[in-house]
Amino acid sequence: MKWYKKDQHFLIDEQVLERIIEYGKLTKADTVLEIGAGYGNLTAKLAKKAGKVIAIEVDPELAPSIKKAENVEVIIGDALKEEFPHYNKVISNLPYSISSPVTFRLLQHGFELGILMYQHEFAKRLVASAGSKDYGRLSIAVQYHAQVEILEVVSRHAFSTPPKVDSAIVRVVPRPPPYEVRDVDFFMKFILAAFSQRRKKLKNAILNNAAMLGIKESALEKLPQDIIEQRAETISPEELAKLSDLLI
Ligand code: SAM
Repeated sequence: MKWYKKDQHFLIDEQVLERIIEYGKLTKADTVLEIGAGYGNLTAKLAKKAGKVIAIEVDPELAPSIKKAENVEVIIGDALKEEFPHYNKVISNLPYSISSPVTFRLLQHGFELGILMYQHEFAKRLVASAGSKDYGRLSIAVQYHAQVEILEVVSRHAFSTPPKVDSAIVRVVPRPPPYEVRDVDFFMKFILAAFSQRRKKLKNAILNNAAMLGIKESALEKLPQDIIEQRAETISPEELAKLSDLLI
């Protein structure tokens, strides 16, 4: 079986499809990017409201059934490799196996509004705040670039073939970062280190990743001891950013 076939859960619940279109607040001024268009069920509805829809679908067997309207352009290829066209909204029932890389690729490209379907567990991690068990690197990295919110949970039975888990529709609105950090690349490595051992104190997680971070163990002396005695999952993104700044 081709690698992308396992991602083929088609959304067949008409009411959920209609609500996705409503969340998108589409007008003829919009150019929508759709990733993983399948056989074009969502595409056809997007095309009725938007000025243009550009659909990327990797499966060449499905691609011929996507273009059901004049204003639909189909790109047959891998959404992690194809160059993204110009678009201002991205509305998709995403292929779940590429949820994380495709989200970061989209955020790097920029857009006004995203209405994106993810696995529910993944969506909970996207929107989580400090103190929650779902809070971690993904929450911090995505929320650094965008405001994210779960709009609704979608039952697995809304799909043919039903996936093993439920899904959720997430609104993603890129905005300037809500706090400053001196070196974003270092901060991203720092949170990778901080959450690499969730059950440990932050201090130990940093110590065990000192080589990866390119810091000396003595650098920890620069950090407030009461904070690094805590676990990363209890510390806010802003506070983690301050710690990261102290290390460089
Ligand atoms: N949009 C349709 C719907 O809502 O029913 C299909 C959604 S289905 C969850 C995901 C689709 O993404 C599948 O058609 C699959 O072939 C396609 N896909 C999987 N990996 C992909 C990739 N890397 N790039 C582009 N499309 C991909």
